[in-house]
Amino acid sequence: MECRVGCAACCIALSISSPIPGMPNGKPAGVRCVQLTPDGRCRLHGSPEKPVVCVRLEPNEEMCGHSCEEAMAYLEALERATQPDCGQGASARGEPSHRAS
Ligand code: SF4
Ligand code: SF4
Repeated sequence: MECRVGCAACCIALSISSPIPGMPNGKPAGVRCVQLTPDGRCRLHGSPEKPVVCVRLEPNEEMCGHSCEEAMAYLEALERATQPDCGQGASARGEPSHRAS
C-alpha cells in the first residue's frame, strides 16, 4: 500500500532510538518528530539525513489501518507491548520499585 500523505502516525507514536536531525537522542514514543511539517510530511524525505529506520519502514495494512486513528491505535499498542521493563514495571503498577530490607 501507499503511505497516506499527512497521516504521520508512525512519526508520532513510535519511539526511534537513532539520532534524528534536531533530536540527537532519537525520539520517545508519542512525541511528534521535529522533522514533521505542520501538514504531516517528513522534511527529510529523499535526504541522506533521514534515519535508516524511517527509510526502511514500509507502510502496510496491518500497521496503517484505514485511517490515522487506526494507525495510531495500532502503533501505541505495539509500543506498549515492546516497552522494556527497566525496573519501572513495579512503580507503573503502583508498587514500590524497591523494598527496604
Ligand atoms: S502509519 Fe502508515 S500511512 Fe501513516 S504515515 Fe506511517 S506509513 Fe504512512
Ligand atoms: S525523520 Fe521523517 S520519517 Fe522519520 S520520524 Fe521524523 S518525520 Fe517521520
